[in-house]
Amino acid sequence: MLSESQKQRYLRNIILSEIGEDGQKKLLQAKVLVIGAGGLGSPVLLYLAAAGVGNIGVMDDDVVELSNLQRQVIHGEKNLGQKKVESAKEKISTLNTDVNLQIFTRRADRESLRKICADYDFIVDATDNFFSRFVINEVCFTQEKPLIFAAVKGFLGQVSVFKSYKKNNPCYACFNPNFVDENSTLPLSEKGILGSVAGTIGALQATTTIREILGIGESLVGKILLFDFLQNDFRKVTLKKYPGCRICGG
Ligand SMILES: [Zn+2]
Repeated sequence: MLSESQKQRYLRNIILSEIGEDGQKKLLQAKVLVIGAGGLGSPVLLYLAAAGVGNIGVMDDDVVELSNLQRQVIHGEKNLGQKKVESAKEKISTLNTDVNLQIFTRRADRESLRKICADYDFIVDATDNFFSRFVINEVCFTQEKPLIFAAVKGFLGQVSVFKSYKKNNPCYACFNPNFVDENSTLPLSEKGILGSVAGTIGALQATTTIREILGIGESLVGKILLFDFLQNDFRKVTLKKYPGCRICGG
């Protein structure tokens, strides 16, 4: 049952025929792990929390730096030097007390992910390096978790959903087969990123997550959205399972 204050708070969700009170209850019961509290993680966390996604985990081992504030809008000047997960928790506690937010001050390595992902139903990859993406993809495949993926670089963005544990669905490694090891990757944000591009793609990633939780509309499984914000070029491309994939291939 939704309380009276929940009916007020989520009114604009509930009056959408695709959501209604039942959809809102689903959101409040959902368990979503957001990996990364940076440029993508900021809008994802804010919009999921505001929408009433009731159980959110956030995983990041970084601290807030001045150069982050250009795009990581969940953090502010008073959070400089603080762990990003603590800063995010502080912000979300002022936004929506319906949200049970668990923080994990950990790197997205295989061991931590195996332990933490097990407790969540949806995994959001909001990281900014290839190594984490490969490991998250692998854990989502083995634990059969839906993976909501997004990436940004410069003026470019991508969004997709992977359910590679289901027959014929591709995984992230099918789409990007060149595995990189832990030591060979620089954060992509170091190559430059416009904050509003990360914000737009992060908001799309949040919408995609909410759509997956509710099971409404068209899923992005087997498709990827590609955005070029410099050229105003937006495309949806079909992804195929790669039979020789080292993660999901037979
Ligand atoms: Zn694959």
